[in-house]
Amino acid sequence: AVAAVAALATSRMRDFAPRFRRAWLLAGLAFSCYPLGAGFEVAASVAGRAPGPDWSDAVTLAFYPLFFAGLTSLSSAPRTRYESARLGLDVGMIVLTGASFLWHGVIAPILTTPGTSDLETLVRIAQPVGNLGLLFASSSALLHRPNPSSRRPLGLLAISGLLLFVSDLLFGPAPLRQGGVEANPWPEVAASGAPLLWLLAAQWQRFQGSEPAPAQRRHEPHYAGVGMLPSLALAAGFAMLVHVAAPHWSLELGVEIATLFLITAVVIVRQVLAVRETEHLLAERAVREARFRSMVQHSSDVIAIVDRRGTLRFVSPSVSRVFRWQPDALVGTNLFALLHPDDVASARAFLRTMAQQPGETDAFTCRLRDGDGAWRHVESACTSLIEDPTVEGLVLNTRDVSDRARLEAELTRRAFNDPLTGLANRSRFHAMTEQALRRNTRTGVTALLYLDLDNFKTVNDTLGHQHGDHLLVEVAARLLNATRGCDTVSRLGGDEFAVLLEDLRDRDDVTVVADRIAGAMARPFHLGPAEFLVGASIGIAFEHDGLSADDLLRDADVAMYVAKRQGKGRWAVFQPEMHRQLRDTVQLEADLRGAVERDEFLLLFQPVVNLVTRRVVGGEALLRWRHPTRGLLLPEAFIGVARDAGLLEPIGRSVLLRATDQLARWRREHPEMAGISVAVNIGGRHFQSQWFVQEVAAALAASRIPPERLVLEITEDDIMRDTTATLERLTALKALGLRVAIDDFGTGYSSLAYLQRFPVDILKIDKSFIDQMTFEDHGQALARMIVALGQTLGMRTVAEGVEQPAHLGMLRDMDCQYAQGYLFAPPLPPEAFARYALAGLNDDLFDPPSFAGVTAGPALRVVHGAAA
Ligand code: C2E
Ligand code: MG
Ligand code: MG
Repeated sequence: AVAAVAALATSRMRDFAPRFRRAWLLAGLAFSCYPLGAGFEVAASVAGRAPGPDWSDAVTLAFYPLFFAGLTSLSSAPRTRYESARLGLDVGMIVLTGASFLWHGVIAPILTTPGTSDLETLVRIAQPVGNLGLLFASSSALLHRPNPSSRRPLGLLAISGLLLFVSDLLFGPAPLRQGGVEANPWPEVAASGAPLLWLLAAQWQRFQGSEPAPAQRRHEPHYAGVGMLPSLALAAGFAMLVHVAAPHWSLELGVEIATLFLITAVVIVRQVLAVRETEHLLAERAVREARFRSMVQHSSDVIAIVDRRGTLRFVSPSVSRVFRWQPDALVGTNLFALLHPDDVASARAFLRTMAQQPGETDAFTCRLRDGDGAWRHVESACTSLIEDPTVEGLVLNTRDVSDRARLEAELTRRAFNDPLTGLANRSRFHAMTEQALRRNTRTGVTALLYLDLDNFKTVNDTLGHQHGDHLLVEVAARLLNATRGCDTVSRLGGDEFAVLLEDLRDRDDVTVVADRIAGAMARPFHLGPAEFLVGASIGIAFEHDGLSADDLLRDADVAMYVAKRQGKGRWAVFQPEMHRQLRDTVQLEADLRGAVERDEFLLLFQPVVNLVTRRVVGGEALLRWRHPTRGLLLPEAFIGVARDAGLLEPIGRSVLLRATDQLARWRREHPEMAGISVAVNIGGRHFQSQWFVQEVAAALAASRIPPERLVLEITEDDIMRDTTATLERLTALKALGLRVAIDDFGTGYSSLAYLQRFPVDILKIDKSFIDQMTFEDHGQALARMIVALGQTLGMRTVAEGVEQPAHLGMLRDMDCQYAQGYLFAPPLPPEAFARYALAGLNDDLFDPPSFAGVTAGPALRVVHGAAA
């Protein structure tokens, strides 16, 4: 009764699983059958009822099915068919042995007892049959892998079942026992051990709870030693055989039994060996599997199995490392859902083909989305194992080849792109131009812009290549900004770029783009600590029938060259005659080199007149080239070419020497000319050259003229260039004692602040201001201001290009002291200059009867003749 209460209490534990609670409820009900049956029996004997089958037997017998059900509910079910078959055989051996014992020991005696009613016999047999059930349930509970959450309690209950079986077997069913309990109490003593075990089991389960005890969490397959139970049963079966055979003993029977025993022993040994062998094979397979699993897991490839439709049936764990997917999340999904939409069709076709070719292996590449959502380039080797029953699918061995794909893309990009700026390179640009020219669906205008930076070399030389590269990158960015997305922008090499414009409305649109690009290049570039003005010259060539890409490029290149020669930062449209011009220029350059060696240059001197004293005060040395075939050339025809060819310095040096030498000669030959100065034009490059000051000093020393008789004319633009260095240089020159004039003043940009600091003596007012004086209402205002500025700064002013007598009065009114121009004299050869200077000026020039209508005085005509 106590055990029953304990089991029922266990069944009421709230945190137990329902199956568990049901098992303990059944056990509790089973245990309570004993006290209830005993109670009925006592009640019957008190009532004086005759012994025989009654309700008490029914209640007592109910113990067996209830206990059986409780035990099986607590056990766990076999997992595989093999397991249940093996369990069935083992339990079968025990139960059969038990059955044979029960037959001989209990059932046969009951059946052979005379004078018992059928009901009585049935009740008596029911008990051993129930015991057989107990044996079955207990031995299967023990032999089977126990349920971890009821391991100990179940073991105790099973032992109690065996105890009940053995006690009934050894001592026969209670009603058969002769002499009652008093004569033989041992069955009762043995049987009362069972309720103690029940109590213990119920309590144990209650304290342990339905969770497996921590120590038993590890997988413990069996109760220790129970593996022996079937063998014990077999031995017991033999013992029974010997026992049954004993009354009929003979040598023959003994030999027969011994042989049977030996054969059985051999079979058992044989079975043990088979088990050992299986275990060995299993262990070997486990090692192999573990090795294989680790290979699959640690492989840098991902192994997957897909069916014909692309459903993933297996994905190796390495997928989490390689592609950041969880393998479980992928199994069952479709492979195509992971692929780039552009690759799905080809991948589908590939897998379909592979599915039709069992045993074949082939590879394909595609883009696959990884767990982070990024696209990866993958290469997949596919083996078709569609007919292999262990696989029944396509095995994909996939690896990430993104790095390789990136490298390939990079190499391709390099082959067609400029690595520095990322723009199309020359070969790609050429191909694209060729393609554009061949397209016959063209509408509108196609043009090629050839662009060359104006001051790239200066940046590269002064700031270094790193900043040069930086500049090129910035230029590329500005070019892209100034063009449309559909225009092709290319770096042809060095500082040369090209733009291909297609489908523009008309030619004006092209020049708009050219203007925009020129504007973008004119903005200062920030390079390192400084800002640089770089600028670009642009040549434009329009496509027309029959032109190849090479032709178009060459035409635009020629136009660019012309634009550069016209002054930097401009654009020019290609004209067919430009080719000729270019050829001429090249020829001229060649001639010019020879001219320096052959000394084909000569100097003319244009008189500078003092408007107050009406005397010639000096002459400006002006360069002429006596060209062998083209005659006498003016500076504008060759100075630019000379500068580009780097010949201006040697020419300038010779001019300096020649002019000072000429002055010295005049002074020797005509002492009256002692007051005459000579002005020499100095090119910017020459002025900035390292040796310039020394050269001037040498020229002065060689000619031995008084230094103040030498005037150096430097244009406004040149003198304002590198102001710090200029100031230094000017100071050095001034230290020699000569004078400095700013030529063409007013045509460029002058910082008046610098002008004040520069030791400059003379301002030469550009011809354009003089021309304006007679044409415009307020035309004199600017010239007047320049003269006033000169006076403020303590400089003399010389009016250049005076052609009209009307200018003279105006200049005098402004207090401009000096002038030069065709009105007085053109540039003259040295002898003519000397004559002119010595003759003095025609007073009529200054005091004409009326300025109106006078274009040139008679003196002028005379000297013109001299110049000619
Ligand atoms: P520039 O220094 O301003 O010289 C004055 C130019 O104006 C000379 O042209 C002269 O012939 C011209 N001219 C003078 N009076 C008149 C006039 O009344 N009307 C007109 N229309 N023109 C007049 P040229 O000799 O052709 O020289 C042109 C430029 O060439 C010079 O301008 C000067 O900048 C440069 N140049 C001349 N000789 C040399 C030289 O030896 N070295 C350097 N570096 N440059 C020189
Ligand atoms: Mg000059
Ligand atoms: Mg001038």
